[in-house]
Amino acid sequence: MTHSAFHPTARTLMGPGPSDVNPRILEAMSRPTIGHLDPQFVGMMEEVKAMLQYAFQTENALTLPVSAPGSAGMETCFANLVEPGDKVVVCRNGVFGMRMTENVERRGGEAVVIDDAWGEAVDPDKLETTLKAHPDAKIVAFVHAETSTGVRSDAKTLVEIAHRHDCLAIVDAVTSLGGTELRVDDWGIDAIYSGTQKCLSCVPGLSPVSFGERAVDKIKSRDAKVQSWFLDLNLVMGYWGGGATRAYHHTAPINALYALHEALLLLEEEGLENAWRRHDLNHQALKAGLEAMGIRFVVDEAHRLPQLNAVWIPEGHDDAAIRSRLLNEFNLEIGAGLGDFAGKVWRIGLMGYASNPKNVISCLAALEAVGLKSAESAIAAAQAIYDNP
Ligand SMILES: *Cc1c(COP(=O)(O)O)cnc(C)c1O
Repeated sequence: MTHSAFHPTARTLMGPGPSDVNPRILEAMSRPTIGHLDPQFVGMMEEVKAMLQYAFQTENALTLPVSAPGSAGMETCFANLVEPGDKVVVCRNGVFGMRMTENVERRGGEAVVIDDAWGEAVDPDKLETTLKAHPDAKIVAFVHAETSTGVRSDAKTLVEIAHRHDCLAIVDAVTSLGGTELRVDDWGIDAIYSGTQKCLSCVPGLSPVSFGERAVDKIKSRDAKVQSWFLDLNLVMGYWGGGATRAYHHTAPINALYALHEALLLLEEEGLENAWRRHDLNHQALKAGLEAMGIRFVVDEAHRLPQLNAVWIPEGHDDAAIRSRLLNEFNLEIGAGLGDFAGKVWRIGLMGYASNPKNVISCLAALEAVGLKSAESAIAAAQAIYDNP
């Protein structure tokens, strides 16, 4: 025998995802695998859809988890909604906006890109001006919570502008779902995708999506077939759509869906708005601690994501050396900077189950232990927030 069982060290995951998985979710995953058309399983699928509607705050019937990670949710939205020749305005202020552009072009669409600087929110005025200049645009796409920079954009306003110019809005909510205020129906979002491994604290590998009526109409009235067989919602709905005629499309990731069911149950038990409040409180405490250490945030206060704290690495500290000490000595993972932010920025996640006082305090203590000294006590500063929330 050359190989043996794989037993990873338990880590505390405070990066850009995956986040710590609640033990209840891991336990749910280990339950017996049953058939993907077993009536018991089908009953569970209906509950998953209903709980996803709650998480997204929508009554959209077409709400389901795609059997693949967040990137596949992105592909699902673009593959189904973009037809060859469609003009799509992509608001780009980080890595994930760049991927949206790729998606449009690979579907044969024409991408009109609006750039905002990394660390800044999408500018609604620029969207307005661009849509005036491109009256034939059909879709607007943007990232609600840009995980590469820690920025939240004003989804409600951006969707309003898109609608005023007769465009559908595709929204990336991979990092916002369950962590930050998100209201699909109130805000009129036409198509949205998320992921399970960020603020839902579930295992990676599933992508909840939801489509409103106008998006469904566009999908049904397409001239060309959706170019991806696997992601074609017209076919996927034969399995997820419900009713007695449910038929095989692909083998659902059965146990991963048990995990999602449990994650959504945890969210329902806590209450969505309580989950948003918890993410905010732990962010406030971490911020107080980091600022006591003299660490500065990349994003201005009005546009910060509570679940993804992007901070400048203080002068004189070695990015890679510190992150590897945190990992090796404290089993703590924080995120590195991407692209222009590589080596300059840390991304400290407080997502889902990982967003708790124990993680905030132990992260601050670990940063001090590896050399980030502070004049006043970072831990006392964080604790003061919990004492007087
Ligand atoms: C993580 C992430 C994705 C991609 O999700 P995967 O599950 O890694 O495929 C897309 N968009 C945003 C904003 C993300 O943070």
